[in-house]
Amino acid sequence: MINYTERIALLMQDVVRRTPLLSFIDLSEVLVFGRFGRADAEGPFATCHCLTLPESEPGYFFWRDRSTGELTRRSEWFVTKSPVVRIGPTTVKYLISFVLPRYCDQSLERSRKAEFYTDEPGWVAKLDTIFHELYHIDPDETGIRRFMRADGSDSFRSHSPNYYEEVASMVKAYLASGPDPALYDFLQCDFAELTTRYSGVVGTTFRNFPSFPQRYMERLNLPAGDTAVRVEPIKPLTQPVTYTEDDLHIRQFTEASARRLTRKGQHRAA
Ligand SMILES: [Zn+2]
Repeated sequence: MINYTERIALLMQDVVRRTPLLSFIDLSEVLVFGRFGRADAEGPFATCHCLTLPESEPGYFFWRDRSTGELTRRSEWFVTKSPVVRIGPTTVKYLISFVLPRYCDQSLERSRKAEFYTDEPGWVAKLDTIFHELYHIDPDETGIRRFMRADGSDSFRSHSPNYYEEVASMVKAYLASGPDPALYDFLQCDFAELTTRYSGVVGTTFRNFPSFPQRYMERLNLPAGDTAVRVEPIKPLTQPVTYTEDDLHIRQFTEASARRLTRKGQHRAA
């Protein structure tokens, strides 16, 4: 079977080596993993998740009476934090998720990025996505490059047209630099072709699949102030706040689902 996330991680090594604008990226601090998403459903192909956003200032939610404006209830104090992901001695700074099988069936045809390409074959859309997500990694280490939402994810709407143009020109320069086709030929297959050729598609996922490390709220033990107002408790944590390589599971992706393989997956950093 083909380990799809591992192949992407290997390709990223070559991409970063050959692309000056991305050469600052230390891929040992970047973890590639798979999420499930049907090819025929709307949604992202991939997402860059930042784990270096600082802890938020203490805050709370509150509700006001619509007519009087008076405070009716409030939540406990909390801070929002990033989970910690450690692979061996290395703390991971970014996660890049690829949505399988949707990503595998991506093509330039009918894509919004088609306007930035001319004669390139359809599968280049997938290579474009890899560059796109790597380009979100901030060279100034402040956590996020422009256009990302506060939770570390991003959306199509939040990009300037320049962003897509810059990504496309990096992709073209990379292909013109003569990379070994063995590194990217897997991108030329759609999901059905991959399944036939390799008898299956697997990828790295987190133990708490379909969840993965995400920003969370941590309750603070601070006085509520106005004691007359009802205080709502913060939702208890349901997901881990730290992860290690032991929390990585290899799952097989099909058109309809992802199931864990009993073979323990050996993780390789991107
Ligand atoms: Zn983006």
